[in-house]
Amino acid sequence: MTPAAPTVRTTCPYCGVGCGVRAEARDGALIAVSGDPDHPANRGRLCVKGSALADTVGRDGRLLAPTVRGREVSWATALDAVAEGFAGTLREHGPESVAMYLSGQLLTEDYYVANKLMKGFVGSANVDTNSRLCMASAVVAHQRAFGEDVVPCDYDDLERCELAVLVGSNAAWAHPVLFQRLTARRERGELKIVVVDPRRTATCEAADLHLALRPGSDVALFNGLLAHLARAGAVDREFVHRCTTGFDAALAAARDDAAGLLRETGLTRQAVATFFRWFAATPRTVTLFSQGVNQAGNGTDKANAIINCHLATGRIGRAGTGPFSLTGQPNAMGGREVGGMASQLAAHGDFSPASRERVGRFWKAPAMARAPGLKAVALFEAVARGEVKAIWIMGTNPVVSLPRADAVRDALRRCPLVVVSDCVALTDTTACADVLLPAAGWGEKDGTVTNSERRISRQRPFAAAPGLARPDWWIVSQVARRLGFEEAFAYTGAPQIFREHAALTAFENGGARHLDLGGLADLTDAQYDAMGPVQWPCPADGSAGRGERPFADGRFYHADARARLVAVRHRPPRQRPGAGHPFVLNTGRLRDQWHTMTRTGTAPRLFGHTESPVVQLAAEDAARLGVDAGDLVEIGNGGGRVMALAEPGGEVTPGHLFMPMHWCEPFTGNGRVGVLVAPATDPESGQPESKHAAVTVRPQAVGAWLRLASRRPLPAALLMAPVSYWTRLPTRSGWRYEVALQAAADVDDYLAGLCAAQPHDNRIEYSDSSEAGRRLLLERQGAIEMVAFCAPGRGALPAASFAADVLDGALEQAPWRLLAGPESLDADCSRLVCTCFGVSEERILQAIAAGASSAEDLGRRLECGTNCGSCVPELKALIAREESSTERAVRHAV
Ligand code: SF4
Repeated sequence: MTPAAPTVRTTCPYCGVGCGVRAEARDGALIAVSGDPDHPANRGRLCVKGSALADTVGRDGRLLAPTVRGREVSWATALDAVAEGFAGTLREHGPESVAMYLSGQLLTEDYYVANKLMKGFVGSANVDTNSRLCMASAVVAHQRAFGEDVVPCDYDDLERCELAVLVGSNAAWAHPVLFQRLTARRERGELKIVVVDPRRTATCEAADLHLALRPGSDVALFNGLLAHLARAGAVDREFVHRCTTGFDAALAAARDDAAGLLRETGLTRQAVATFFRWFAATPRTVTLFSQGVNQAGNGTDKANAIINCHLATGRIGRAGTGPFSLTGQPNAMGGREVGGMASQLAAHGDFSPASRERVGRFWKAPAMARAPGLKAVALFEAVARGEVKAIWIMGTNPVVSLPRADAVRDALRRCPLVVVSDCVALTDTTACADVLLPAAGWGEKDGTVTNSERRISRQRPFAAAPGLARPDWWIVSQVARRLGFEEAFAYTGAPQIFREHAALTAFENGGARHLDLGGLADLTDAQYDAMGPVQWPCPADGSAGRGERPFADGRFYHADARARLVAVRHRPPRQRPGAGHPFVLNTGRLRDQWHTMTRTGTAPRLFGHTESPVVQLAAEDAARLGVDAGDLVEIGNGGGRVMALAEPGGEVTPGHLFMPMHWCEPFTGNGRVGVLVAPATDPESGQPESKHAAVTVRPQAVGAWLRLASRRPLPAALLMAPVSYWTRLPTRSGWRYEVALQAAADVDDYLAGLCAAQPHDNRIEYSDSSEAGRRLLLERQGAIEMVAFCAPGRGALPAASFAADVLDGALEQAPWRLLAGPESLDADCSRLVCTCFGVSEERILQAIAAGASSAEDLGRRLECGTNCGSCVPELKALIAREESSTERAVRHAV
């Protein structure tokens, strides 16, 4: 009998929920993952992305060896090239000419070493992170209100609150495990959920009230709420008097805004009144917010408007209350702890003389940075201007994710030295690198991450890193030593770095900062290895700091120990629609993908839910533009253009669009939505306004559509003109493509190109009477090499998953039957709703038609929704849709 595979307890590498994972690995291969029932963040649950972790690890697509200008080299040669490049740039142009751009995917130990090198030894604070795009506004709002970047809530507050207000947060998709904790309580009648979001998202399926406010009008709404709380006598005068300052000014600003509340938000009086009444009447209220608040030209003010309402009511520092910023990335919070942002120093330090002196003395640093460095958008603008001449990018993909992404790519191509460390070989950013450094990935590296509730969890290795890949902390330390800083970077492992980080948080702290990990500063290697999830603060005296939870004693971290209510006023978004660009584009996340798909994009089943770059638009707008579902449209502005398939419906209001931010060059041509986002940033946080781009929409004529699956990737020439749109997704045994050709007359040449590119010894081809109607199957030694379906209209094609099933051998039929299409085989090619159990929309609709009337009922019949639960909101939406169409039919018949 095969012995049971050893289980390693680690942490999911995707979102800021920070779920504990039990990974079963044998011989370095991940066999299975499951949620860790003992981890307080998830208590055994995982969402679809976490459940699919085993599909996303492995050697495919990994960066395995260092390269310098395309040539594979040894580590010594690559590290010398980086050190000499940085040293030469520093000598000639000074510390402001070099930069690092880091990632919330890095472990705290990696982050710490990179920041120490730049801010203490190179003397430059030009170290920023992709967390700037995610929650920088929340960080600044916390600092303004509390005097320190402290998230005041715990996940347990979600079990204790009676009202959960989700603002700009599609938690059903972006933080699914937390969302399920809320919905479980709502189903037991224990709390109400209010969703504040311009878009009708999956999260709204569980809302008692959805406030579809006008984009960017959150300050007006929460100022209106503050004014109402004062009117209704719901202000906690004693708390305000004892623990805060700024109430009168904040209330005056709120009252000024309140007059225009309905006009600015576009909400009905009744909806606003209901929200205000519920909030005022429910002491146990948690307000959760994420990207819809942060990614705005006034994101910091939005967050402070929310925090003001909690401070005014004293709903902070107590169980079941508080403003709760949900972090996007797995270690955004850890990055904040070690000063990962250009505006911070390590251990929640800033650039005041006292803070610089303290951190510098602890590090024995020869060259402390004197002032905050360039924030992400400004940093890449400085690269474009030639002011930053050497940049090191770690574990992130700014050529996709930053505003004006095309300009970022151009800037990197012109930059004299671009170093990229990544675990993935082919990304839009690695394509711009002079030096590529292979980094260890999830399951190979050792360290810690901190989730949204300040809980530090271990990521533990269960496999050796492939090829020459090394941990990021090791790579940075090696370069630091070559720059002459041997002693300060003589690290031998992650535990040593963690101890130093923990000691710095406690160094001359004395209660001045909530971030105090002094109790972890003396862990032995074995204790570090065995460390369970631990929430900060954890000071050396073993106490829980200045209270059971942040601010439980009513004391904050400004010099006078009082919190600040910040007077904020409604300001419209920086980018506004106009005659040239009449639509507002909102960007966001898909349920089954993560970031720029570098990891989730390797798992075929994670494309079962959404397989194309689609743009949601209102049905009225689609009708006016003459666009049907699935039609190709170009979305553009001065930053560039994006090609996407139209998805008309009721999710967005007229004049508004929504498109996911994940798509990038390895998976589609012209799908990077970042090119459309303007470099307009919040003046306080530097976070870009990624939720509000002014764009045009132009329907595109397509002469012919193809869906094909191929054992080999198509050559680049087959993805260029006359191709106007393409997607390339993995299948179990190759790749599947969707391609749009500009003219039907291009079809024959294109098919000839396909045949020339694919080795084959047998070719089966059908044509129909239409100009573009073709079906083609290529075989080699009896195995299918490629299958292609071509039609003048997209709707006439078999589903893309059918071509993949043909290639993967899932349909054991003669070639001619396969070419006849799914109808002749009675194959189900509808979209996957439940990714965990592979349950399609068609099967769910059949079950509903057969009498299934609840998500639980569907789960009993088909298993859907019974593992991670991410699809439950969609199951409910399908039931509601089918019930209402049945009702309509009955009414019509009557
Ligand atoms: Fe990972 Fe999903 Fe948990 Fe986020 S909610 S940490 S993606 S399993």
